Amino acid sequence: MATDFLAQLDPAFATTAKQVLTACEAKGITMRPYYAARSPWQQARLWRQSRSTEQIQAARQRMETEGAPWLANVLNEVGPQHGDHVTNALPGKSAHQYKLALDCFWLVNGEAEWEDTTGYRIYATVAQERGLSAGMFWTSFVDPPHIQHGSMDNMPNWAWSMVEAEMYARWGNTPSGQWGRP
Ligand SMILES: [Zn+2]
Repeated sequence: MATDFLAQLDPAFATTAKQVLTACEAKGITMRPYYAARSPWQQARLWRQSRSTEQIQAARQRMETEGAPWLANVLNEVGPQHGDHVTNALPGKSAHQYKLALDCFWLVNGEAEWEDTTGYRIYATVAQERGLSAGMFWTSFVDPPHIQHGSMDNMPNWAWSMVEAEMYARWGNTPSGQWGRP
Protein backbone atom coordinates (compact mmCIF):
# COMPACT_ATOMS: atom_id res chain seq x y z
CA MET A 1 0.00 0.00 0.00
CA ALA A 2 1.32 3.38 -0.95
CA THR A 3 1.61 6.21 1.55
CA ASP A 4 -1.81 7.16 2.89
CA PHE A 5 -1.65 10.77 1.77
CA LEU A 6 -5.23 11.56 2.80
CA ALA A 7 -4.38 10.63 6.42
CA GLN A 8 -1.85 13.50 6.50
CA LEU A 9 -4.55 16.07 5.82
CA ASP A 10 -6.94 18.07 7.96
CA PRO A 11 -9.73 15.50 8.60
CA ALA A 12 -12.65 17.52 7.16
CA PHE A 13 -10.64 18.44 4.06
CA ALA A 14 -9.56 14.80 3.69
CA THR A 15 -13.22 13.74 3.66
CA THR A 16 -14.05 16.20 0.88
CA ALA A 17 -10.93 15.26 -1.08
CA LYS A 18 -11.87 11.59 -0.86
CA GLN A 19 -15.35 12.44 -2.22
CA VAL A 20 -13.67 14.22 -5.13
CA LEU A 21 -11.55 11.18 -5.96
CA THR A 22 -14.56 8.86 -5.69
CA ALA A 23 -16.64 11.12 -7.97
CA CYS A 24 -13.79 11.21 -10.52
CA GLU A 25 -13.57 7.43 -10.41
CA ALA A 26 -17.31 7.24 -11.17
CA LYS A 27 -16.59 9.30 -14.31
CA GLY A 28 -13.79 6.92 -15.32
CA ILE A 29 -10.98 9.22 -14.16
CA THR A 30 -8.44 7.78 -11.71
CA MET A 31 -6.58 10.48 -9.78
CA ARG A 32 -3.65 9.22 -7.70
CA PRO A 33 -2.43 11.35 -4.73
CA TYR A 34 1.32 12.06 -4.58
CA TYR A 35 1.62 15.07 -2.26
CA ALA A 36 -0.58 16.13 0.69
CA ALA A 37 0.96 17.79 3.75
CA ARG A 38 4.23 19.57 3.01
CA SER A 39 6.49 21.15 5.62
CA PRO A 40 7.96 24.66 5.26
CA TRP A 41 11.38 23.06 4.50
CA GLN A 42 9.92 20.95 1.71
CA GLN A 43 8.17 24.04 0.33
CA ALA A 44 11.39 26.06 0.60
CA ARG A 45 13.26 23.47 -1.50
CA LEU A 46 10.56 23.47 -4.19
CA TRP A 47 10.49 27.28 -4.32
CA ARG A 48 14.28 27.66 -4.40
CA GLN A 49 14.90 25.08 -7.11
CA SER A 50 14.03 27.44 -9.98
CA ARG A 51 15.19 30.78 -8.48
CA SER A 52 18.34 32.83 -8.71
CA THR A 53 20.46 33.77 -5.69
CA GLU A 54 19.20 37.35 -6.12
CA GLN A 55 15.56 36.23 -6.00
CA ILE A 56 16.22 34.12 -2.90
CA GLN A 57 18.02 36.99 -1.14
CA ALA A 58 15.18 39.39 -1.98
CA ALA A 59 12.57 36.98 -0.61
CA ARG A 60 14.54 36.40 2.60
CA GLN A 61 14.95 40.11 3.14
CA ARG A 62 11.24 40.77 2.60
CA MET A 63 10.22 37.98 4.96
CA GLU A 64 12.59 39.25 7.66
CA THR A 65 11.45 42.83 7.26
CA GLU A 66 7.77 41.90 7.32
CA GLY A 67 7.88 39.80 10.49
CA ALA A 68 8.83 36.30 9.38
CA PRO A 69 12.49 35.77 10.42
CA TRP A 70 11.92 32.09 11.27
CA LEU A 71 10.54 31.37 7.79
CA ALA A 72 13.33 33.45 6.21
CA ASN A 73 15.76 31.14 7.98
CA VAL A 74 13.87 28.08 6.71
CA LEU A 75 14.38 29.40 3.18
CA ASN A 76 18.08 29.84 3.91
CA GLU A 77 18.86 26.61 5.73
CA VAL A 78 17.64 24.19 3.03
CA GLY A 79 20.58 25.28 0.86
CA PRO A 80 20.97 25.36 -2.93
CA GLN A 81 18.38 23.50 -5.01
CA HIS A 82 18.03 22.81 -8.73
CA GLY A 83 14.96 21.90 -10.72
CA ASP A 84 11.92 23.06 -12.64
CA HIS A 85 9.59 25.88 -11.71
CA VAL A 86 6.87 23.99 -9.82
CA THR A 87 5.47 26.58 -7.39
CA ASN A 88 5.01 30.29 -6.80
CA ALA A 89 4.48 29.78 -3.05
CA LEU A 90 7.18 30.61 -0.53
CA PRO A 91 7.30 28.50 2.67
CA GLY A 92 4.17 29.28 4.71
CA LYS A 93 2.29 30.50 1.63
CA SER A 94 1.13 27.14 0.30
CA ALA A 95 -2.03 25.43 1.52
CA HIS A 96 0.05 22.23 1.77
CA GLN A 97 1.71 23.66 4.92
CA TYR A 98 -1.78 23.96 6.48
CA LYS A 99 -2.70 20.38 5.46
CA LEU A 100 -5.44 21.83 3.27
CA ALA A 101 -4.19 20.89 -0.21
CA LEU A 102 -3.74 17.73 -2.24
CA ASP A 103 -1.80 17.00 -5.44
CA CYS A 104 -2.85 14.09 -7.68
CA PHE A 105 -1.70 12.88 -11.05
CA TRP A 106 -4.02 11.35 -13.60
CA LEU A 107 -3.44 7.61 -13.90
CA VAL A 108 -3.99 6.31 -17.45
CA ASN A 109 -3.24 2.67 -18.31
CA GLY A 110 -1.04 2.39 -15.24
CA GLU A 111 1.02 5.46 -16.09
CA ALA A 112 1.01 9.04 -14.87
CA GLU A 113 -0.38 11.37 -17.54
CA TRP A 114 1.00 14.91 -17.20
CA GLU A 115 0.45 16.41 -20.68
CA ASP A 116 -3.20 15.73 -21.56
CA THR A 117 -5.36 17.87 -19.26
CA THR A 118 -8.70 16.12 -19.96
CA GLY A 119 -8.68 14.21 -16.66
CA TYR A 120 -7.38 17.20 -14.73
CA ARG A 121 -10.26 19.36 -15.99
CA ILE A 122 -12.82 16.83 -14.78
CA TYR A 123 -11.01 16.53 -11.41
CA ALA A 124 -10.89 20.33 -11.06
CA THR A 125 -14.56 20.74 -11.95
CA VAL A 126 -15.62 18.07 -9.45
CA ALA A 127 -13.48 19.76 -6.77
CA GLN A 128 -15.05 23.15 -7.45
CA GLU A 129 -18.52 21.64 -7.20
CA ARG A 130 -17.60 20.63 -3.65
CA GLY A 131 -16.37 24.10 -2.68
CA LEU A 132 -12.66 23.49 -3.23
CA SER A 133 -10.47 25.52 -5.54
CA ALA A 134 -8.45 23.94 -8.31
CA GLY A 135 -5.01 24.89 -9.65
CA MET A 136 -6.16 23.83 -13.12
CA PHE A 137 -8.19 27.05 -13.28
CA TRP A 138 -5.60 29.40 -11.79
CA THR A 139 -4.35 32.15 -14.07
CA SER A 140 -0.98 33.21 -12.61
CA PHE A 141 0.48 29.69 -12.34
CA VAL A 142 -1.61 26.82 -13.69
CA ASP A 143 -1.19 23.82 -11.38
CA PRO A 144 -3.40 20.97 -12.72
CA PRO A 145 -2.64 18.37 -10.00
CA HIS A 146 -3.48 20.78 -7.15
CA ILE A 147 -6.76 21.19 -5.25
CA GLN A 148 -7.17 23.08 -1.99
CA HIS A 149 -9.65 24.22 0.65
CA GLY A 150 -11.53 27.37 -0.37
CA SER A 151 -10.43 29.19 2.78
CA MET A 152 -6.87 29.25 1.42
CA ASP A 153 -7.68 31.30 -1.68
CA ASN A 154 -6.90 34.59 -0.01
CA MET A 155 -3.62 33.37 1.47
CA PRO A 156 -1.31 35.20 -0.95
CA ASN A 157 -2.55 38.37 0.80
CA TRP A 158 -1.94 37.17 4.36
CA ALA A 159 0.58 39.24 6.32
CA TRP A 160 3.97 37.58 6.79
CA SER A 161 3.81 38.13 10.57
CA MET A 162 0.59 36.12 10.74
CA VAL A 163 1.95 33.39 8.46
CA GLU A 164 5.08 33.21 10.65
CA ALA A 165 3.02 32.69 13.83
CA GLU A 166 0.87 30.00 12.19
CA MET A 167 3.85 28.16 10.77
CA TYR A 168 5.89 28.29 13.96
CA ALA A 169 2.93 26.93 15.94
CA ARG A 170 2.41 24.07 13.50
CA TRP A 171 5.99 23.18 12.52
CA GLY A 172 8.34 24.86 14.99
CA ASN A 173 8.86 21.72 17.08
CA THR A 174 9.61 19.43 14.14
CA PRO A 175 12.79 17.49 14.97
CA SER A 176 15.76 17.57 12.64
CA GLY A 177 15.38 14.90 9.97
CA GLN A 178 11.57 14.81 10.06
CA TRP A 179 9.48 16.39 7.31
CA GLY A 180 12.66 17.41 5.53
CA ARG A 181 13.96 19.61 8.35
CA PRO A 182 17.76 19.85 7.99
ZN1 LIG B 1 -0.22 21.37 -4.63
